[in-house]
Amino acid sequence: MNKGFGQFEVWFVTGAQLLYGGDAVIAVDGHSNKMVEGLNNSGNLPVKVVYKGTANSSKEVEAVMKAANNDEKCIGIITWMHTFSPAKMWIHGLQQLKKPLLHLHTQFNREIPWDTMDMDFMNLNQSAHGDREFGHICTRMRIRRKVVVGYWQDAETQHKIAVWMRVCAAWADAQDMLILRFGDQMNNVAVTDGDKVEAEVRMGYHVDYCPVSELMEYHNQIKDEDTNALVEEYFRLYDHDASLEDKSTEAYQKVWNAAKAELALRAILKDKGAKGFTTNFDDLGQTDGSHFDQIPGLASQRLMAEGYGFGAEGDWKSAALYRSVWVMNQGLPRGCSFLEDYTLNFNGEQSAILQAHMLEVCPLIAAQKPRLEVHFLGIGVRKSQTARLVFTSKTGAGCTATVVDLGNRFRLIVNDVECIEPKPLPKLPVASALWIPQPNFEVGAGAWILAGGTHHSCFSYDLTAEYWEDYAEIAGIEMVHINKNTTISELKKELRFNEVYYMLNKALC
Ligand code: MN
Repeated sequence: MNKGFGQFEVWFVTGAQLLYGGDAVIAVDGHSNKMVEGLNNSGNLPVKVVYKGTANSSKEVEAVMKAANNDEKCIGIITWMHTFSPAKMWIHGLQQLKKPLLHLHTQFNREIPWDTMDMDFMNLNQSAHGDREFGHICTRMRIRRKVVVGYWQDAETQHKIAVWMRVCAAWADAQDMLILRFGDQMNNVAVTDGDKVEAEVRMGYHVDYCPVSELMEYHNQIKDEDTNALVEEYFRLYDHDASLEDKSTEAYQKVWNAAKAELALRAILKDKGAKGFTTNFDDLGQTDGSHFDQIPGLASQRLMAEGYGFGAEGDWKSAALYRSVWVMNQGLPRGCSFLEDYTLNFNGEQSAILQAHMLEVCPLIAAQKPRLEVHFLGIGVRKSQTARLVFTSKTGAGCTATVVDLGNRFRLIVNDVECIEPKPLPKLPVASALWIPQPNFEVGAGAWILAGGTHHSCFSYDLTAEYWEDYAEIAGIEMVHINKNTTISELKKELRFNEVYYMLNKALC
């Protein structure tokens, strides 16, 4: 799986022209070099910025855009117009560009040197109008991009670039993403289904069915010594009752079988180059042949932490989205998980939704060391004692997201949430989180339902709606953001306006 963002770079292209003479362009080139060096040395950007020089003509612009398209390391382009770069020279290049675009509206000099400023200085510090000229052509051509305004040395400006870079990395990752479905959707469920062809056209990832019988061929190949070693690793990593290590017990056998299931899943995912998967509790292999004796929930928990996308009950959209969340979240401190709206708690202003799943919650969001436990699970084709990691999640602000298929388009629904302290659940030994959707339970949940959101979502403490805004912009999909300012009547209007917008903009549907 990915190890940070070291394999990626973002290109920095400075728009210029030769009107002010070659010396001016040389000076601008020097400024650009210093800016890129400053950005890279700030420690605030997760992806390396590579300066690609000034683009002074239509031919040069087109050449750098084509090169960006064909460079696998390049996940996006930052443009900055130091001065007046006549925007017609950008038309052909922008028509070619397939990579995400960030337009940085900044200036080499922070402040106006009031006493010494002359026309030469002006010629080197005129992004105030150059960036507007560039903005016009992007808007005229309906080019999707992020516009970041701010001084290039300021941490807030760099943070906005950093957010976009993480999204670009997830986007690049998704263009080469395979999701394997072990079994089909859970029967009759609408919201987790959708158009897999359109998903690939719009969001890049590819979804394949994989018979559970093929997974079982990998299961058959797993060696006992590897399974033993993984069980030892579980006991080292997780709190557990000492009795769980008693090899004569059913509980130990269930942990052992869960470890074998994890090894089989990881082996087939690696072998096929898949970045995510779905399971279905009604399809766990043939009882009279090789099969899982329990839902592979522990495996799903651990594979999610490792970066594999996961969606339960065949939910391939959540599997793909979780993988993207995990990529964006790399190196950030608080973690992410696939979650499900489980049970409501009506309690006045503290009314909240318990987030859990039968088993499959990622330990990256745990507030404490996860506990390895075995309990009976009476759902699915094989009702059984089942291994799982049990924990509660950190408190604090987070953001959750889902993608639904509305028939003529995908809609990304994002909700800011506040995770609060849960009470102990001695009779429900699963991992969980408890959150208040913003602006409050009634409006947040009501808005989510009106927008057609799933009961599954992909949650992160570290990602904010800004990430999702960048994601929706790059993908060209609708985004509905439910937040502290949301009111039901305004949201209803937004949904109606969007319906018309996407009907008229066929290219975006
Ligand atoms: Mn579910």
